[in-house]
Amino acid sequence: MSVLETTRELLALDGGEKVISEPIPAFSGGPGADSIDDAEIAAITEVLRSKALFRHNPNSQVRAFERDACEVLGVQNGLMVNSGTSGLVCALFGLGIGPGDEVIVPAYTYIATAAAVVAVGAVPIIAEIDTSLGLDPVDVEQKITPRTKAIIPVYMQGVPGRIYDLLDVAKRHGLKVVEDCAQCIGGKYFGKMVGTLGDVGEWSFNYFKVLTCGEGGLVFTNDYEVFERACFASDPALPMWMKDQTGQTTWHTPPFSANCYRPSEIMGAMARVQLRKLEGILTHTRSLKAAFLEEIREGGTPRGFVLQHVDDPEGDCGVSAAIICHSSEMAKRYSEALRAEGLSCGTAHNAGFPDRHIYRYWDSVLEKASPHTTGYPWNDPHYLEQGGDVFYSPEMCPQSLDILNRALRFGFNMRMTTHHARLMARAITKVDRLLP
Ligand SMILES: *Cc1c(COP(=O)(O)O)cnc(C)c1O
Repeated sequence: MSVLETTRELLALDGGEKVISEPIPAFSGGPGADSIDDAEIAAITEVLRSKALFRHNPNSQVRAFERDACEVLGVQNGLMVNSGTSGLVCALFGLGIGPGDEVIVPAYTYIATAAAVVAVGAVPIIAEIDTSLGLDPVDVEQKITPRTKAIIPVYMQGVPGRIYDLLDVAKRHGLKVVEDCAQCIGGKYFGKMVGTLGDVGEWSFNYFKVLTCGEGGLVFTNDYEVFERACFASDPALPMWMKDQTGQTTWHTPPFSANCYRPSEIMGAMARVQLRKLEGILTHTRSLKAAFLEEIREGGTPRGFVLQHVDDPEGDCGVSAAIICHSSEMAKRYSEALRAEGLSCGTAHNAGFPDRHIYRYWDSVLEKASPHTTGYPWNDPHYLEQGGDVFYSPEMCPQSLDILNRALRFGFNMRMTTHHARLMARAITKVDRLLP
Protein backbone atom coordinates (compact mmCIF):
# COMPACT_ATOMS: atom_id res chain seq x y z
CA MET A 1 0.00 0.00 0.00
CA SER A 2 1.41 3.39 -0.91
CA VAL A 3 1.74 6.16 1.66
CA LEU A 4 -0.75 8.14 -0.34
CA GLU A 5 -3.40 5.46 -0.06
CA THR A 6 -2.99 4.91 3.66
CA THR A 7 -3.29 8.60 4.43
CA ARG A 8 -6.07 9.33 1.98
CA GLU A 9 -8.90 10.83 3.97
CA LEU A 10 -12.34 9.32 3.48
CA LEU A 11 -15.66 10.47 4.82
CA ALA A 12 -17.02 8.12 7.48
CA LEU A 13 -20.00 7.87 5.13
CA ASP A 14 -17.63 6.24 2.59
CA GLY A 15 -16.00 3.92 5.10
CA GLY A 16 -13.38 6.34 6.42
CA GLU A 17 -12.44 6.81 10.06
CA LYS A 18 -14.94 8.81 12.13
CA VAL A 19 -13.69 12.14 13.47
CA ILE A 20 -15.64 11.58 16.68
CA SER A 21 -15.21 8.02 17.92
CA GLU A 22 -16.26 8.52 21.54
CA PRO A 23 -19.71 10.07 22.01
CA ILE A 24 -19.73 13.80 22.81
CA PRO A 25 -21.06 14.23 26.38
CA ALA A 26 -24.74 15.16 26.33
CA PHE A 27 -27.20 16.65 28.83
CA SER A 28 -30.92 16.94 28.34
CA GLY A 29 -31.36 20.25 30.18
CA GLY A 30 -29.55 23.58 30.17
CA PRO A 31 -26.21 24.70 31.66
CA GLY A 32 -27.91 25.86 34.86
CA ALA A 33 -29.49 22.47 35.52
CA ASP A 34 -26.20 20.75 34.78
CA SER A 35 -24.48 22.97 37.35
CA ILE A 36 -26.76 22.05 40.27
CA ASP A 37 -24.75 20.93 43.31
CA ASP A 38 -24.89 21.06 47.12
CA ALA A 39 -25.23 24.87 47.09
CA GLU A 40 -28.76 24.73 45.62
CA ILE A 41 -29.69 21.85 47.92
CA ALA A 42 -28.50 23.80 50.98
CA ALA A 43 -30.31 27.00 49.95
CA ILE A 44 -33.61 25.22 49.31
CA THR A 45 -33.27 23.16 52.49
CA GLU A 46 -32.81 26.34 54.48
CA VAL A 47 -36.03 27.80 53.05
CA LEU A 48 -37.91 24.59 53.84
CA ARG A 49 -36.57 24.52 57.41
CA SER A 50 -37.64 28.13 57.90
CA LYS A 51 -41.17 27.23 56.71
CA ALA A 52 -41.30 30.72 55.19
CA LEU A 53 -42.26 30.03 51.60
CA PHE A 54 -44.15 33.21 50.76
CA ARG A 55 -42.24 35.95 48.95
CA HIS A 56 -43.69 38.80 50.96
CA ASN A 57 -41.64 38.28 54.12
CA PRO A 58 -38.89 40.34 55.76
CA ASN A 59 -36.08 37.97 54.71
CA SER A 60 -37.38 37.41 51.23
CA GLN A 61 -35.10 35.30 49.03
CA VAL A 62 -37.09 36.41 45.99
CA ARG A 63 -36.47 40.07 46.86
CA ALA A 64 -32.79 39.35 47.44
CA PHE A 65 -32.61 37.62 44.07
CA GLU A 66 -34.25 40.59 42.37
CA ARG A 67 -31.60 42.87 43.91
CA ASP A 68 -28.74 40.53 42.94
CA ALA A 69 -30.05 40.26 39.37
CA CYS A 70 -30.43 44.04 39.06
CA GLU A 71 -26.82 44.43 40.13
CA VAL A 72 -25.60 41.88 37.57
CA LEU A 73 -27.70 43.57 34.88
CA GLY A 74 -26.93 47.13 35.94
CA VAL A 75 -30.64 47.93 35.89
CA GLN A 76 -32.84 49.69 38.43
CA ASN A 77 -35.93 47.48 38.75
CA GLY A 78 -36.41 43.72 38.60
CA LEU A 79 -39.45 41.56 39.30
CA MET A 80 -39.23 37.80 39.66
CA VAL A 81 -42.21 35.84 38.30
CA ASN A 82 -43.08 32.18 37.88
CA SER A 83 -42.04 31.79 34.21
CA GLY A 84 -40.45 33.53 31.27
CA THR A 85 -43.82 33.70 29.54
CA SER A 86 -45.28 35.46 32.60
CA GLY A 87 -42.35 37.85 32.41
CA LEU A 88 -43.21 38.75 28.81
CA VAL A 89 -46.90 39.19 29.72
CA CYS A 90 -45.94 41.51 32.60
CA ALA A 91 -43.56 43.44 30.34
CA LEU A 92 -46.36 44.02 27.81
CA PHE A 93 -48.84 45.01 30.55
CA GLY A 94 -46.11 47.25 31.91
CA LEU A 95 -45.89 49.09 28.59
CA GLY A 96 -49.67 49.42 28.43
CA ILE A 97 -50.01 47.20 25.36
CA GLY A 98 -53.41 45.60 24.81
CA PRO A 99 -56.52 45.38 22.59
CA GLY A 100 -56.14 46.99 19.17
CA ASP A 101 -52.32 46.93 19.29
CA GLU A 102 -49.92 44.97 17.11
CA VAL A 103 -46.60 43.61 18.37
CA ILE A 104 -43.90 42.34 15.99
CA VAL A 105 -42.29 38.99 16.88
CA PRO A 106 -39.74 36.91 14.95
CA ALA A 107 -40.66 33.89 12.81
CA TYR A 108 -38.08 31.94 14.79
CA THR A 109 -38.71 31.93 18.54
CA TYR A 110 -40.40 29.78 21.14
CA ILE A 111 -44.21 30.08 20.74
CA ALA A 112 -44.35 31.82 24.18
CA THR A 113 -43.22 35.10 22.60
CA ALA A 114 -46.31 35.23 20.38
CA ALA A 115 -48.54 33.71 23.09
CA ALA A 116 -47.66 36.53 25.52
CA VAL A 117 -48.89 39.07 22.96
CA VAL A 118 -52.22 37.22 22.63
CA ALA A 119 -52.43 36.98 26.43
CA VAL A 120 -52.60 40.78 26.79
CA GLY A 121 -55.21 41.01 24.00
CA ALA A 122 -52.83 42.32 21.31
CA VAL A 123 -52.14 40.84 17.87
CA PRO A 124 -48.77 39.22 17.10
CA ILE A 125 -47.28 40.15 13.73
CA ILE A 126 -44.71 37.65 12.50
CA ALA A 127 -41.58 39.09 10.85
CA GLU A 128 -38.68 37.45 9.02
CA ILE A 129 -35.36 36.47 10.55
CA ASP A 130 -32.07 36.90 8.70
CA THR A 131 -28.74 35.05 8.89
CA SER A 132 -28.31 36.26 12.47
CA LEU A 133 -31.26 33.88 13.18
CA GLY A 134 -32.85 36.91 14.87
CA LEU A 135 -35.29 39.56 13.60
CA ASP A 136 -34.48 41.09 10.22
CA PRO A 137 -34.65 44.89 10.77
CA VAL A 138 -35.58 45.45 7.09
CA ASP A 139 -38.63 43.18 7.28
CA VAL A 140 -39.60 44.57 10.70
CA GLU A 141 -39.81 48.03 9.17
CA GLN A 142 -42.01 46.72 6.34
CA LYS A 143 -44.41 45.07 8.79
CA ILE A 144 -45.05 48.26 10.78
CA THR A 145 -48.62 49.61 10.56
CA PRO A 146 -50.35 52.49 12.40
CA ARG A 147 -51.37 49.83 14.96
CA THR A 148 -47.83 48.65 15.78
CA LYS A 149 -46.84 49.46 19.38
CA ALA A 150 -43.82 47.27 20.08
CA ILE A 151 -41.16 44.90 18.78
CA ILE A 152 -39.93 41.81 20.63
CA PRO A 153 -36.43 40.86 19.45
CA VAL A 154 -35.49 37.35 20.60
CA TYR A 155 -31.90 36.23 21.16
CA MET A 156 -32.16 32.55 20.30
CA GLN A 157 -29.64 30.07 21.69
CA GLY A 158 -27.62 32.74 23.47
CA VAL A 159 -26.85 34.90 20.44
CA PRO A 160 -27.85 38.59 20.67
CA GLY A 161 -29.30 39.71 17.31
CA ARG A 162 -29.06 42.98 15.40
CA ILE A 163 -30.02 45.08 18.41
CA TYR A 164 -28.77 48.52 17.36
CA ASP A 165 -30.50 48.26 13.96
CA LEU A 166 -33.74 47.15 15.62
CA LEU A 167 -33.56 49.92 18.24
CA ASP A 168 -33.05 52.35 15.40
CA VAL A 169 -36.18 51.13 13.57
CA ALA A 170 -38.14 51.31 16.84
CA LYS A 171 -36.97 54.85 17.52
CA ARG A 172 -37.86 56.10 14.06
CA HIS A 173 -41.39 54.72 14.41
CA GLY A 174 -41.96 55.47 18.11
CA LEU A 175 -42.19 51.80 19.10
CA LYS A 176 -41.38 50.12 22.41
CA VAL A 177 -38.82 47.29 22.54
CA VAL A 178 -39.21 44.23 24.77
CA GLU A 179 -36.04 42.12 24.65
CA ASP A 180 -36.82 38.41 25.02
CA CYS A 181 -33.59 37.19 26.65
CA ALA A 182 -35.10 33.90 27.83
CA GLN A 183 -32.28 32.00 26.09
CA CYS A 184 -29.63 34.68 26.52
CA ILE A 185 -29.07 35.23 30.24
CA GLY A 186 -25.76 37.05 30.65
CA GLY A 187 -25.45 37.84 26.93
CA LYS A 188 -23.90 41.19 26.09
CA TYR A 189 -24.02 43.53 23.13
CA PHE A 190 -20.87 45.60 22.71
CA GLY A 191 -20.31 45.53 26.45
CA LYS A 192 -23.89 46.14 27.58
CA MET A 193 -26.09 43.46 29.13
CA VAL A 194 -28.84 42.43 26.74
CA GLY A 195 -32.30 43.19 28.03
CA THR A 196 -31.19 46.63 29.22
CA LEU A 197 -30.94 48.19 25.75
CA GLY A 198 -34.67 48.34 24.98
CA ASP A 199 -37.55 49.35 27.26
CA VAL A 200 -37.98 46.06 29.15
CA GLY A 201 -36.04 42.80 29.30
CA GLU A 202 -37.03 39.29 30.30
CA TRP A 203 -35.20 36.13 31.46
CA SER A 204 -36.58 32.60 31.80
CA PHE A 205 -35.36 30.03 34.33
CA ASN A 206 -37.03 26.94 32.95
CA TYR A 207 -35.09 23.66 32.86
CA PHE A 208 -33.46 24.34 29.48
CA LYS A 209 -32.06 27.81 30.07
CA VAL A 210 -28.62 29.19 30.99
CA LEU A 211 -29.83 29.41 34.64
CA THR A 212 -32.74 27.52 36.16
CA CYS A 213 -34.80 27.22 39.31
CA GLY A 214 -37.11 24.63 37.75
CA GLU A 215 -39.47 27.25 36.35
CA GLY A 216 -39.28 31.01 36.73
CA GLY A 217 -38.68 34.34 35.08
CA LEU A 218 -37.48 37.88 35.60
CA VAL A 219 -38.75 41.10 34.08
CA PHE A 220 -36.47 44.13 34.37
CA THR A 221 -36.44 47.77 33.33
CA ASN A 222 -35.05 51.19 34.18
CA ASP A 223 -38.54 52.68 33.77
CA TYR A 224 -40.18 52.75 37.20
CA GLU A 225 -43.73 53.11 35.89
CA VAL A 226 -43.34 50.14 33.58
CA PHE A 227 -41.97 48.18 36.53
CA GLU A 228 -44.83 49.20 38.79
CA ARG A 229 -47.40 48.15 36.18
CA ALA A 230 -45.55 44.85 35.66
CA CYS A 231 -45.81 44.32 39.45
CA PHE A 232 -49.58 44.96 39.41
CA ALA A 233 -49.91 42.56 36.44
CA SER A 234 -48.07 39.85 38.36
CA ASP A 235 -50.19 39.74 41.51
CA PRO A 236 -53.57 41.38 42.20
CA ALA A 237 -52.81 41.52 45.94
CA LEU A 238 -49.35 43.00 45.52
CA PRO A 239 -50.37 46.62 46.21
CA MET A 240 -51.77 45.48 49.58
CA TRP A 241 -48.64 43.51 50.40
CA MET A 242 -46.41 46.43 49.47
CA LYS A 243 -48.46 48.71 51.68
CA ASP A 244 -48.07 46.33 54.61
CA GLN A 245 -44.41 45.59 54.00
CA THR A 246 -42.97 48.93 53.03
CA GLY A 247 -45.63 51.38 54.11
CA GLN A 248 -45.89 52.47 50.48
CA THR A 249 -49.28 54.09 49.86
CA THR A 250 -48.70 56.16 46.75
CA TRP A 251 -48.32 54.82 43.23
CA HIS A 252 -47.19 56.44 40.03
CA THR A 253 -50.01 54.69 38.19
CA PRO A 254 -53.26 53.34 39.65
CA PRO A 255 -53.03 49.66 40.67
CA PHE A 256 -55.04 47.23 38.54
CA SER A 257 -55.78 43.50 38.78
CA ALA A 258 -54.69 40.88 36.27
CA ASN A 259 -52.92 37.59 36.88
CA CYS A 260 -51.00 35.85 39.64
CA TYR A 261 -47.47 34.97 38.58
CA ARG A 262 -45.95 35.09 42.08
CA PRO A 263 -42.86 32.90 42.65
CA SER A 264 -42.15 31.02 45.87
CA GLU A 265 -39.18 31.46 48.15
CA ILE A 266 -37.87 28.06 47.03
CA MET A 267 -37.52 29.43 43.52
CA GLY A 268 -35.94 32.66 44.77
CA ALA A 269 -33.38 30.82 46.92
CA MET A 270 -32.37 28.54 44.05
CA ALA A 271 -32.21 31.40 41.54
CA ARG A 272 -29.83 33.30 43.86
CA VAL A 273 -27.43 30.38 43.95
CA GLN A 274 -27.65 29.89 40.20
CA LEU A 275 -26.98 33.57 39.53
CA ARG A 276 -23.70 33.29 41.41
CA LYS A 277 -22.72 30.56 38.93
CA LEU A 278 -23.47 32.65 35.84
CA GLU A 279 -19.93 33.89 35.24
CA GLY A 280 -18.47 30.40 35.61
CA ILE A 281 -21.07 28.89 33.28
CA LEU A 282 -20.50 31.51 30.58
CA THR A 283 -16.73 31.31 30.90
CA HIS A 284 -17.00 27.61 30.13
CA THR A 285 -19.54 27.80 27.29
CA ARG A 286 -17.71 30.76 25.71
CA SER A 287 -14.44 28.81 25.79
CA LEU A 288 -16.18 25.94 23.97
CA LYS A 289 -17.53 28.19 21.24
CA ALA A 290 -14.19 29.98 20.89
CA ALA A 291 -12.40 26.64 20.40
CA PHE A 292 -15.06 25.55 17.89
CA LEU A 293 -14.73 28.77 15.89
CA GLU A 294 -10.95 28.69 15.95
CA GLU A 295 -10.98 25.17 14.53
CA ILE A 296 -13.47 26.20 11.82
CA ARG A 297 -11.24 29.16 10.90
CA GLU A 298 -8.19 26.92 10.72
CA GLY A 299 -10.09 24.82 8.18
CA GLY A 300 -9.95 27.74 5.73
CA THR A 301 -12.81 29.39 3.89
CA PRO A 302 -15.75 26.95 3.92
CA ARG A 303 -16.95 25.77 0.52
CA GLY A 304 -20.51 24.90 1.40
CA PHE A 305 -21.65 27.11 4.28
CA VAL A 306 -21.36 30.40 6.14
CA LEU A 307 -21.45 30.76 9.91
CA GLN A 308 -24.51 32.33 11.56
CA HIS A 309 -23.98 36.10 11.56
CA VAL A 310 -23.09 37.38 15.04
CA ASP A 311 -22.83 41.17 15.46
CA ASP A 312 -20.69 41.01 18.62
CA PRO A 313 -19.03 37.60 19.14
CA GLU A 314 -17.72 38.66 22.57
CA GLY A 315 -21.25 39.03 23.93
CA ASP A 316 -22.46 35.65 22.64
CA CYS A 317 -23.31 33.26 25.53
CA GLY A 318 -21.51 30.48 23.64
CA VAL A 319 -24.22 27.86 24.19
CA SER A 320 -24.68 27.13 20.48
CA ALA A 321 -23.24 27.53 17.00
CA ALA A 322 -25.00 27.38 13.66
CA ILE A 323 -23.81 26.96 10.11
CA ILE A 324 -25.97 28.01 7.17
CA CYS A 325 -25.41 25.84 4.09
CA HIS A 326 -25.72 27.25 0.58
CA SER A 327 -28.81 25.08 -0.15
CA SER A 328 -31.29 23.00 1.80
CA GLU A 329 -30.19 19.96 -0.22
CA MET A 330 -26.61 20.50 0.98
CA ALA A 331 -27.81 20.95 4.56
CA LYS A 332 -29.42 17.52 4.42
CA ARG A 333 -26.28 15.92 2.97
CA TYR A 334 -24.03 17.70 5.50
CA SER A 335 -26.29 16.51 8.28
CA GLU A 336 -26.09 12.88 7.10
CA ALA A 337 -22.33 13.01 6.60
CA LEU A 338 -21.86 14.63 10.02
CA ARG A 339 -23.94 11.97 11.70
CA ALA A 340 -21.65 9.35 10.17
CA GLU A 341 -18.66 11.28 11.59
CA GLY A 342 -20.25 10.99 15.05
CA LEU A 343 -21.82 14.46 15.23
CA SER A 344 -25.58 14.32 15.40
CA CYS A 345 -27.54 17.26 14.06
CA GLY A 346 -30.64 17.92 12.03
CA THR A 347 -31.60 20.85 9.93
CA ALA A 348 -33.41 23.28 12.21
CA HIS A 349 -36.48 23.02 10.02
CA ASN A 350 -36.59 19.26 9.46
CA ALA A 351 -35.52 17.94 12.82
CA GLY A 352 -38.07 15.16 12.41
CA PHE A 353 -40.73 16.75 14.59
CA PRO A 354 -42.74 19.98 14.35
CA ASP A 355 -40.39 22.45 16.02
CA ARG A 356 -42.44 24.93 18.08
CA HIS A 357 -39.62 27.44 17.65
CA ILE A 358 -40.68 27.97 14.03
CA TYR A 359 -43.82 30.06 13.41
CA ARG A 360 -45.06 27.49 10.86
CA TYR A 361 -45.90 25.18 13.78
CA TRP A 362 -47.65 27.74 15.98
CA ASP A 363 -51.04 26.29 15.02
CA SER A 364 -53.02 28.20 17.66
CA VAL A 365 -51.65 31.52 16.39
CA LEU A 366 -51.85 30.80 12.65
CA GLU A 367 -55.44 29.60 13.11
CA LYS A 368 -56.27 32.68 15.23
CA ALA A 369 -57.60 30.35 17.92
CA SER A 370 -59.06 32.71 20.50
CA PRO A 371 -59.27 32.01 24.23
CA HIS A 372 -62.83 33.36 24.00
CA THR A 373 -65.91 33.08 21.77
CA THR A 374 -65.56 36.76 20.74
CA GLY A 375 -62.47 35.76 18.79
CA TYR A 376 -60.26 38.34 20.50
CA PRO A 377 -57.63 39.66 19.96
CA TRP A 378 -58.07 39.32 16.18
CA ASN A 379 -61.81 40.16 16.25
CA ASP A 380 -61.53 42.72 19.01
CA PRO A 381 -63.58 45.81 18.06
CA HIS A 382 -60.58 48.07 18.81
CA TYR A 383 -58.56 46.09 16.32
CA LEU A 384 -61.24 45.95 13.61
CA GLU A 385 -62.04 49.65 14.05
CA GLN A 386 -58.46 50.51 13.18
CA GLY A 387 -58.62 48.35 10.07
CA GLY A 388 -56.63 45.51 11.63
CA ASP A 389 -56.71 42.43 9.40
CA VAL A 390 -53.53 40.41 9.92
CA PHE A 391 -53.15 37.43 7.58
CA TYR A 392 -51.21 34.34 8.66
CA SER A 393 -50.15 31.33 6.62
CA PRO A 394 -47.51 28.61 7.05
CA GLU A 395 -45.62 30.05 4.05
CA MET A 396 -45.82 33.73 5.03
CA CYS A 397 -42.13 34.05 5.97
CA PRO A 398 -40.28 32.42 3.05
CA GLN A 399 -36.94 34.03 3.91
CA SER A 400 -37.03 32.53 7.42
CA LEU A 401 -38.05 29.08 6.15
CA ASP A 402 -35.27 29.18 3.56
CA ILE A 403 -32.62 30.10 6.17
CA LEU A 404 -33.88 27.57 8.73
CA ASN A 405 -33.96 24.86 6.05
CA ARG A 406 -30.29 25.53 5.37
CA ALA A 407 -29.21 25.90 9.01
CA LEU A 408 -27.50 23.21 11.08
CA ARG A 409 -27.33 23.86 14.80
CA PHE A 410 -24.89 22.55 17.40
CA GLY A 411 -25.20 22.94 21.15
CA PHE A 412 -22.42 23.29 23.73
CA ASN A 413 -22.93 22.05 27.27
CA MET A 414 -21.16 22.03 30.62
CA ARG A 415 -19.90 18.44 30.21
CA MET A 416 -17.97 19.18 27.04
CA THR A 417 -14.35 20.24 26.98
CA THR A 418 -12.67 22.42 24.35
CA HIS A 419 -11.37 19.15 22.89
CA HIS A 420 -14.97 18.09 22.17
CA ALA A 421 -15.75 21.49 20.66
CA ARG A 422 -12.70 21.17 18.38
CA LEU A 423 -13.72 17.66 17.33
CA MET A 424 -17.20 18.96 16.43
CA ALA A 425 -15.65 21.65 14.25
CA ARG A 426 -13.19 19.19 12.73
CA ALA A 427 -16.07 16.94 11.69
CA ILE A 428 -17.68 19.94 9.98
CA THR A 429 -14.52 21.07 8.17
CA LYS A 430 -13.84 17.49 7.06
CA VAL A 431 -17.32 17.11 5.60
CA ASP A 432 -17.03 20.53 3.98
CA ARG A 433 -13.71 19.55 2.39
CA LEU A 434 -14.64 16.09 1.16
CA LEU A 435 -18.35 15.98 0.41
CA PRO A 436 -18.63 16.01 -3.38
C1 LIG B 1 -38.16 29.58 27.17
C2 LIG B 1 -38.59 30.75 26.39
C3 LIG B 1 -39.65 31.58 26.79
C4 LIG B 1 -40.58 31.27 27.90
O1 LIG B 1 -40.06 30.79 29.02
P1 LIG B 1 -40.91 29.87 30.03
O2 LIG B 1 -40.14 30.08 31.27
O3 LIG B 1 -40.85 28.48 29.50
O4 LIG B 1 -42.27 30.42 30.11
C5 LIG B 1 -39.90 32.73 26.06
N1 LIG B 1 -39.19 33.02 24.97
C6 LIG B 1 -38.20 32.24 24.53
C7 LIG B 1 -37.43 32.64 23.32
C8 LIG B 1 -37.87 31.06 25.21
O5 LIG B 1 -36.91 30.27 24.74
